[in-house]
Amino acid sequence: MSGEKDLGNIEGLRRLIRLLAVSSGIDEALADDLFDLLLSVDPKKGISDEEVEALKGYKQADVRKVFRIFYDLRLASYRKGKQPETGSTRYYWYLDPKNLDASLLRRKKLVLEKLKMRLAYEKSNEFYVCPKDGSRYTFDYAFEYEFTCPKCGSMLIPDNNGPYVKVLEERVKKLEEEIKQDEAKLYSH
Ligand SMILES: [Zn+2]
Repeated sequence: MSGEKDLGNIEGLRRLIRLLAVSSGIDEALADDLFDLLLSVDPKKGISDEEVEALKGYKQADVRKVFRIFYDLRLASYRKGKQPETGSTRYYWYLDPKNLDASLLRRKKLVLEKLKMRLAYEKSNEFYVCPKDGSRYTFDYAFEYEFTCPKCGSMLIPDNNGPYVKVLEERVKKLEEEIKQDEAKLYSH
């Protein structure tokens, strides 16, 4: 594996982490920064949320939320340990490097499914659009409102989704190729 490829995967993961952070209402810059931090942590040692707070000044609760995202993506694991002075339980987080490639592949497959579903939806429906505010409706919905925009009352016009369908098809094709290459790489050794 070339170093460049690894970096490509890291950037792919970073995009997914940002998306998940946004969808969970977490600051994406925080998620990004903690991902970088974990990349630099020795997996054998790990780092506790308390140590992250001391190091970076982030609130432990926020740090735990982000680590939870990494955990859900199966990027990060933790081991339990004792805080040296107080003896209380601490969780030491680390990134599992061999999981990074497999995780990205898994996420790519999920994104591919979403793209395919969207493509099928676009191909099996007719759409109407409001020329004033750009709102978009399916034929059935537009029909129900007698082809006037429910928001502003303008007459709806047919929306040609051909270009959008084409973009979706291209994305699907590209991602499928990427997945094929990733699989070849992952399972070749
Ligand atoms: Zn409208």
